[in-house]
Amino acid sequence: MDLINDFEVSVRSENTPKDDLNIIVNQPVKNLAFYNKALSPFLKPEYFNRNPFRLGYYLSFIIGNLVLVYIALSFNLNILSLCLIGFLMGCLNAGLAFVSHELSHGSVVKGKSFQDLLVLFSFAPFLISPTYWRFWHNRLHHGNTQYVLKDPDAFPTMSVYKNSPFLRWVFKWTPGSKMLRSYSYFFFWFSFQSFLNQVYMRFNNKMWNEMNHKKVTIEFSLQIVMLISYLYLVGFSNWIYLFFIPFFVQNYILMSYISTNHNLSPLTKVNDPLVNSLSVSNYRLLEFLHLNFGYHVEHHIFPRMSGAYTKKVHDVLKSQFSENYQYMPKALAIKKLYSTARIYKNSTTLMHPIDRTTYSTIGASSK
Ligand SMILES: [Zn+2]
Repeated sequence: MDLINDFEVSVRSENTPKDDLNIIVNQPVKNLAFYNKALSPFLKPEYFNRNPFRLGYYLSFIIGNLVLVYIALSFNLNILSLCLIGFLMGCLNAGLAFVSHELSHGSVVKGKSFQDLLVLFSFAPFLISPTYWRFWHNRLHHGNTQYVLKDPDAFPTMSVYKNSPFLRWVFKWTPGSKMLRSYSYFFFWFSFQSFLNQVYMRFNNKMWNEMNHKKVTIEFSLQIVMLISYLYLVGFSNWIYLFFIPFFVQNYILMSYISTNHNLSPLTKVNDPLVNSLSVSNYRLLEFLHLNFGYHVEHHIFPRMSGAYTKKVHDVLKSQFSENYQYMPKALAIKKLYSTARIYKNSTTLMHPIDRTTYSTIGASSK
């Protein structure tokens, strides 16, 4: 364990922005380089290679969608069958989002342009431009995980909440707000947030300044054209089954994972995935269909590793870092999300800003 102590760093810093100066206190954290060095000897070199076999998912999910649309339009199906088709399309679209995630990290095929071309189609059901996604997820989120105001996926502190009418409105929708509307959050939030960011937010926040806006506008417009063409093709009478049901299902699958990834975890200044991230397990078949996306601590340590191997990293983490590694079944994580609030009183304490109830983040007691 000497190796670990060598890398331990105290996070109190003179350069910390005013907002988190008061809230981030001496967390014993290690950086990504530490975990890379500590875990790599336990992993086979081929786990770090690109895995083009993941294109099998890409093709299967797209062909599956085309077959389902063909069946829905060609046969006189009853409402129940059409609902089932909509549900299956939502599952396939969620799968395509997980493939897009791996493609954009460069773990499937070589060449950014080729990756972006594939993602232009696979993220079309969510209207997410490949360039926007790369900037939001790879750069801002992976680069600043759980660093308040720098990670767009991190929930804010009380001071940010108090000063932002928009966040006060958002809070009411989030798990743990104790509002009825929070139970709809998973069903629409991923698409809603991405759409809002691409049509409005990116022009009004300096966080997005270095993104290639022109490219985002072109890709996003192409996806809008694809969506309008699709809606025209399937006809208004089928929108409920072939657009709205898939929309709610695909959003549910994505957000129910994304919310568990970090939103129960502490805020951090140094990016330590064993502190700021959570892995969730699921039924084996669902893990396979969701490309092991729940193994998120592993993904943050090795973002360019194919999801095919993250369970191997999971086994090593369990044996080498059993004290700090945070993982639990997905259903339990969702239950915890709805029984804790999403605003940070400090780095390891969550607070309901209206009734002032406080809750510990996961792993807080061991920090
Ligand atoms: Zn990622």
